Amino acid sequence: MTDGPSADQWAAAVAAVRSTGPDDEIQLICHVNPDGDALGSMLGFGLGLRRLGFTRVRATFPGDFEVPTPYQRLPGVDLLVPEPDAFAGPRLVLVFDVASESRLGALAGRLAAAPASVVLDHHASNTGFGGVRLVDPHAAATSVVAEGLLSRLGVPLDAEIAECLYVALATDTGSFKFDMTTVSVHELAARLIATGLRPGEISRRTFDSKPFGAMKLTGEVIGRAVLEPAAAGGRGMVWTYATLADLERHGQPPYVLDTLIDPVRSVAEADVSVVVKQTAAGEWSVSLRSKGAVDVSGVAVSQGGGGHRLAAGFTGYGEPADVVDTVRRLLDSYLIR
Ligand code: AMP
Ligand code: MN
Ligand code: MN
Repeated sequence: MTDGPSADQWAAAVAAVRSTGPDDEIQLICHVNPDGDALGSMLGFGLGLRRLGFTRVRATFPGDFEVPTPYQRLPGVDLLVPEPDAFAGPRLVLVFDVASESRLGALAGRLAAAPASVVLDHHASNTGFGGVRLVDPHAAATSVVAEGLLSRLGVPLDAEIAECLYVALATDTGSFKFDMTTVSVHELAARLIATGLRPGEISRRTFDSKPFGAMKLTGEVIGRAVLEPAAAGGRGMVWTYATLADLERHGQPPYVLDTLIDPVRSVAEADVSVVVKQTAAGEWSVSLRSKGAVDVSGVAVSQGGGGHRLAAGFTGYGEPADVVDTVRRLLDSYLIR
């Protein structure tokens, strides 16, 4: 794993922002199907740009303009515009939580054409695109990097910025449970909470609230899970899948499946967990998790995806069983120990 941003990279990112005029167009972009870190780090930073006096700041992400319900009340959500309303030729582009350009869809062109750009990310698999690169694979969330740049720009944390960054941090650490939950993560969380946040209320809204139909859908999809004890060199794999028809039957949008990996990965008999979620005919978004036996980011990258060592994803094709066959075959090549 490489180190985080160098002093020169931080200085270049500060210079990129400072050399932008107050009325220049600034476009923020996060990854397709945005999660709490993508939206939270992007909107928190966008609010910081507003505090600095920038008047023309927009935030967007590629594809369907579907913001998961828990994030619709994030401060700064008024910065969000659908992809077609993004600035056509912004002076500065900032990219959040994006491991590879493919996660930017058609907006990758906006990044390539911008006179100045900054990439803020924390994926070990980051492919190295963009202008100034603030990529820290040791950071628990992209919001850690965003806070680093805000503080270097002299933006004080207020309750609105802090709520965005906190939601991002809580999302990517699994509510402060994952290995990346270091002393510095808790120190940042403390500074964020000190602005007046109410963590209980934020957690309830962000993680512990879902429609009845989403619960029924989850129950059905968990009910068809398969345990394969011999997979991953005998460390075990558990997998399940969900189709667009499942979503339709329960009247649910696709993002409700994003947290389904959590109950699946709690299965004690399996190191590896896999959730295969249909996105179109014969096309599936695949979530991979490991408890330490497999570098699932290796598996994902080999299939054109990306992620972190123990949490990764890619796009698969065919039937769910075909996708799982591919994963099962690859697991043995990426055993860690
Ligand atoms: P998910 O399973 O969707 O929660 O994603 C787990 C991790 O893998 C996240 O850090 C994602 O950014 C990353 N990831 C998921 N799908 C892809 C993909 N198709 N390409 C690159 N990275 C991905
Ligand atoms: Mn993300
Ligand atoms: Mn992230």
